[in-house]
Amino acid sequence: MVFSFPENQQLIVDGRGNHFSLKSNLIITHAHSDHFGTLPFANPTFATRETIDLFYSQMKSSVRRNFIPTAFHEELTFQPEIAGLQAEFLPSGHILGSASVFLKYHDKTILCSGDIGGRGLLTVKEPLEVKHTDILVVEATFGKPELTFQSREEIALAILKWSAEVIKDKQNVILSAGKIGSAQELIKLFNDFTKLRVITHGDVTPPSEIYRKYGVPLEFFDSKSEEGRELIRDGEVVIIQSRSKKIVPFYLKEHKNFKSAIVTGMASRFNFKDFDAAFPLSSHASYREILEYVDAVAPDVVFTLYGFEKQLAKAISRELGIPAQSLKGNSLEQNRLYAAQSKEKLTDLHTKTPRVSPAMDVSLPSSPATVRVKKDQTLDDFFKEKE
Ligand SMILES: [Zn+2]
Repeated sequence: MVFSFPENQQLIVDGRGNHFSLKSNLIITHAHSDHFGTLPFANPTFATRETIDLFYSQMKSSVRRNFIPTAFHEELTFQPEIAGLQAEFLPSGHILGSASVFLKYHDKTILCSGDIGGRGLLTVKEPLEVKHTDILVVEATFGKPELTFQSREEIALAILKWSAEVIKDKQNVILSAGKIGSAQELIKLFNDFTKLRVITHGDVTPPSEIYRKYGVPLEFFDSKSEEGRELIRDGEVVIIQSRSKKIVPFYLKEHKNFKSAIVTGMASRFNFKDFDAAFPLSSHASYREILEYVDAVAPDVVFTLYGFEKQLAKAISRELGIPAQSLKGNSLEQNRLYAAQSKEKLTDLHTKTPRVSPAMDVSLPSSPATVRVKKDQTLDDFFKEKE
């Protein structure tokens, strides 16, 4: 998302694409790769310390990004300064270090939610913070009514029960989950409620170590460590690997005494036939939780992005009576606001993070003091009036 200011200055919050200028200040809200994509390394980039460490834990190269570590509620100091703009991070309760971005431009406020978490997450130290704003840009990963899950407690219980059955049959459990967020939720779940040994495989280990560094107590053994190998040989362990990995890891090919499950919010909507089971545990807020968040933030106007934007915008207008519009695929240049269409589609759900990342350009209205939207106005009416 690109905010344009006078004198060709830009502020980019997350994103992909190549529409940034050398003068752009960047913000990375959290360490999921679909949020930093191809953002350039040289520009000043604001992120929390946790996000920076998680970012580097995924990097194969030693190239350093021009990060400026920034704590929650600390004011961001843009380089160069952007006249009239103040910004701070708020906890977004999604994964370790994840942030929403609260912007104040003259007397108008914009809250970019970033990805937000829901209730019952075990590894989130700072819960989602709600702050009133004039304009809210909210994520829509599960912004569809069908994507309302059971409670996290119920899903967690189902995972534990299924795993207990597998272990009772003298087999190993393999869980494929998002490597940052869901994987650590699973480690904590088994640590807290069972005596089973947890093995982390491949790219799940480095971020799990970062969680530990920031005080989230996780007990696990890497699959390549001596202890890890021994535990796998002895059997009856829980192996947690990234969703992008092959279903059968190399070290289990010979003995096949395992059952595997996929853990993703999309399991509430899709069948995953390559797995023995599927559980809709996610570090994202569910549809219902997103609506509750928007209601609590009580903005004058909402823009939706990432995921089911159109459906969520409709639901926000209908259920909450707040004017809302998707930023995906709309061309509203006349209103100095437009969105470029995303090329990504929901494909290959178990090997790829199922989301879209539109490159979006939002220019701030020149007279912020006049921005007020009536409840029964549509966004088009609103902007037409302003023209
Ligand atoms: Zn995320």
